Amino acid sequence: MSESAEKSASVTAMSDKLASESFVPSKEVAALWKKVHGEMRGEFGEAVFRSWLKPLTLQACYHGTLEVSVPTRFMRDWIQTHYSARILEMCAERDENIKRLEVVVVQNAILSDDEEDKAPAKAKANQNEKIEDPYGLSSAFDPKYTFDTFVVGKPNALAHAAARRVVESQNVPFNPLFLYGGVGLGKTHLMHAIGQAMTQQWPERRVMYMSAEKFMYQFVKALRSKDTMGFKETFRSVDVLMIDDIQFMSGKESTQEEFFHTFNALVDQNKQIIISADKAPSDLLGLEERLRSRLAWGLVADIHPSTYDLRLGILQSKRDLLQASIPDAVLEFLALKVTSNIRELEGALNRIVAHADVTRSEITLETTQEVLVDLLRSHDRRITIDEIQRKVAEHYNIKMSDMHSARRARNVARPRQVAMYLAKQLTARSLPEIGRKFGGRDHTTVMHAVRKIEELMEEDAQIAQDVEIVRRALTG
Ligand code: ADP
Ligand code: MG
Repeated sequence: MSESAEKSASVTAMSDKLASESFVPSKEVAALWKKVHGEMRGEFGEAVFRSWLKPLTLQACYHGTLEVSVPTRFMRDWIQTHYSARILEMCAERDENIKRLEVVVVQNAILSDDEEDKAPAKAKANQNEKIEDPYGLSSAFDPKYTFDTFVVGKPNALAHAAARRVVESQNVPFNPLFLYGGVGLGKTHLMHAIGQAMTQQWPERRVMYMSAEKFMYQFVKALRSKDTMGFKETFRSVDVLMIDDIQFMSGKESTQEEFFHTFNALVDQNKQIIISADKAPSDLLGLEERLRSRLAWGLVADIHPSTYDLRLGILQSKRDLLQASIPDAVLEFLALKVTSNIRELEGALNRIVAHADVTRSEITLETTQEVLVDLLRSHDRRITIDEIQRKVAEHYNIKMSDMHSARRARNVARPRQVAMYLAKQLTARSLPEIGRKFGGRDHTTVMHAVRKIEELMEEDAQIAQDVEIVRRALTG
């Protein structure tokens, strides 16, 4: 076989293998969505349908996830908190393979008409259009995700400083910049902020941002249309490449392989690469070893779970942005109660603001508790201290009885403190009640444990991650 025939044969084999990685909804899924979308009218009522659900558009389907889009973030948040669960049920009733519903924001226009006179911006946009043309690789940044709107606190200070550094540097300060942290902690926000600031400060740089899933999708598309050359050229001609959520490349060997080569080519040309993931490079087990170690070459910056102070800061900043009149007590209450992640925190705030808007009433602590009753109760009701103890014991591989025992060895004492911390966070139990559940310990012991774990989470990524994993297992 000649060399070129061999190459094209291997490309075909790859493309066959990748057929299952397709994102384009099948005819069946498209038909299913059409049906379900139609039924929403009857399910939720005409008014709700018209104001919220009508614009929902099917975008993609992959690994049991149905991706649908709406034009604004506010709509997305509202739909997520109010209708997503039921819509997913409606879809799953028709096809049990559908396990998740992802609502994304797709804005149609990047530049509005009144920006016509901003010539450089326009020229820049045209330039971007050119390189994006064959692959629709539009780096449409969310104008709300900027450095200005990113609240900096202890948990994200390093990631933020690194992001700023990348934007301000004439050269490439570290390659890649690898940002990681749990879900909803601000990775995507930071990446959009970098992208937008970069384009502003260095208009001549070509910046490309996309999720790892989109990268995969484009790659499969290029293979199908036998245009891998065009694909390679497109990606290798950018000055800054940002890939969000790289954990989604797990197990996708051909995509990883292609990405690995793109990565190396760009690093060789001294182009900046920025990656995000939900775990540290060494923990991305679905990725090939050589890619994992390559990812850790530059600066690895983690975003820790939020603290009360950061949550409050974010809420205050959101209040300013929304120009809504919300009492401090309400913000403090939310910062205390909604601890899972920033996205859920924002969702809760949006809910109470929307409720006040619709009912034309003021926001008070009482209305807040009323509006969020399901959210708050579900946290309290679902999770018991027993469950927390069991999950923590499982995670650390210790005996359940060690949760109650008097043993003080570090390998059982620390997990016990983690369990106390989670009990305080995830249940409505008082400190003495929690103490009783842990072999009759004093409430000051519980308080000490809570403080200790809070402190450790800021200093020790391992602990922060352990807590996050157990928390997710419990609230999941
Ligand atoms: P991730 O990509 O890590 O899952 P996102 O970047 O999507 O998280 O963040 C979830 C939401 O929380 C976004 O709306 C984002 O604007 C907000 N958010 C997260 N961290 C911050 C922060 N430090 N300041 C302001 N908003 C934040
Ligand atoms: Mg993200």
